[in-house]
Amino acid sequence: MATDKQALFKKIPAVDQLLIRPALEKALESHPKGLVLKAIHQVLDEIRTEIQEGRIAETGDELETEPVSWRVLETLEEISMPSLRNVINATGVVVHTNLGRSILPERVIDKFRSIAGGYSNLEFDLGKGKRGSRYVHVEGILRELSSAEAAMVVNNNAAAVLIALETLAKGREVVVSRGQLVEIGGSFRIPDVMRKSGAKMVEVGTTNKTHLKDYEEVIGPQTSLLLKVHTSNFQVVGFTEEVPLSELVKLGERHGIPVMEDLGSGCLVDFSSYGLVREPTVQEALAQGADLVTFSGDKLLGGPQAGIILGRKDLVEAIRRNPLSRALRIDKLTLLALEETLRLYRDHRIAMKEIPTLKMICQSYDAMKKKAQRLYRLLSDSKNDNFSIEMIDGASKVGGGALPLQELKSRLLCLIPKRLSSHQMEAWLRAYSPPVITRLEKDRVMLDVRTIQEKEFKVVTRAIKDLAIAEPLEARR
Ligand SMILES: *Cc1c(COP(=O)(O)O)cnc(C)c1O
Repeated sequence: MATDKQALFKKIPAVDQLLIRPALEKALESHPKGLVLKAIHQVLDEIRTEIQEGRIAETGDELETEPVSWRVLETLEEISMPSLRNVINATGVVVHTNLGRSILPERVIDKFRSIAGGYSNLEFDLGKGKRGSRYVHVEGILRELSSAEAAMVVNNNAAAVLIALETLAKGREVVVSRGQLVEIGGSFRIPDVMRKSGAKMVEVGTTNKTHLKDYEEVIGPQTSLLLKVHTSNFQVVGFTEEVPLSELVKLGERHGIPVMEDLGSGCLVDFSSYGLVREPTVQEALAQGADLVTFSGDKLLGGPQAGIILGRKDLVEAIRRNPLSRALRIDKLTLLALEETLRLYRDHRIAMKEIPTLKMICQSYDAMKKKAQRLYRLLSDSKNDNFSIEMIDGASKVGGGALPLQELKSRLLCLIPKRLSSHQMEAWLRAYSPPVITRLEKDRVMLDVRTIQEKEFKVVTRAIKDLAIAEPLEARR
């Protein structure tokens, strides 16, 4: 037995032998030698393990230089591929945190080319010919859209909450309802952020009920802020009570204490006029008297990752002067994406049409039905033994911790297992180039057309047709 293995080990081709194979010689024209060598060593290591574990046939046919060089080529493809890649989101979750949350509007993409490829007036006041502030590029439009007195932006909403607390409440007390001590995906927890900011959290009320008097009772000389957190990713239903923002504002005014609301998603349009569940808007929070509001740029707003802080001028200015603002500052490319996205909100009809996140959320069931039909027709000739295809009704989700109870009625393409199992199909599509991310439900693979872009239909069709002729063994990969 051991001698068999030794014979196999001897048969492993040498690195030099591999390097002169035509396939690899050609690969060397388009890949650095170091990378080709890395691929060779990786494959040879794998082969040694396979021999050790008795996974190579005694004949050792797989160890000829020809098949090994093909294997090296495959590995080379894998390791030279960029890590961050486009994927097809067929999950039906519109603001999918793991898949990059919001897709940017076309207009924003166009702008990248010109701004990123040249110098800009990022921090240069063109009128005065002097150093300027990067924040001016969005401050005006944010104030215009929200009627806030002042505006500031940072890297993301977690940073917005952190810097606001650090500026206004470090070493002092912040009052917050127990029902609002939320955790957002990716381990953002209100109590943790509070601790990091140096503010002391004073919890009031209970998980399901908090009354105005609960806040009143704890207000003292150390109280620096009343905080309201929008419970964006869940809803407490039944016997519940929270103090409305307007009541908190009155209480704050009586005691000279500012009120801040972390809106989380922060939408600028009223979704109820599009037949969806009502989500409090940024404008409403400010109109009700919140001294500060914070929200994300890439959730319901549909722009780039960013944290937006709006509110009272003196407070926003104090935040801007905080040295932390340099550490949390927004990048140039993000800033331009945010400005372009916000400009679309000047006309809500345009925002609804051009901001993909808004468009996908508001698309009607009828539109989904037609979209699914179009995709289905492209697939109609892929009759096969691997699976069958059906169209069924289902629901998409807004995601990103927004509108948690909103079900968006949609139309799904559903792959029903025959020769391939649903898990094999899901994994095969995920390994496809580009990866197609689906969801598994009731032992079926679901593709929700809401989040598949029209321009992606061709590649989705190709993926499903390839899956139709995939061998079960191959699909197990
Ligand atoms: C999402 C969310 C955050 C974090 O925002 P990021 O932009 O992801 O940093 C904070 N607070 C609430 C209520 C949220 O929903």
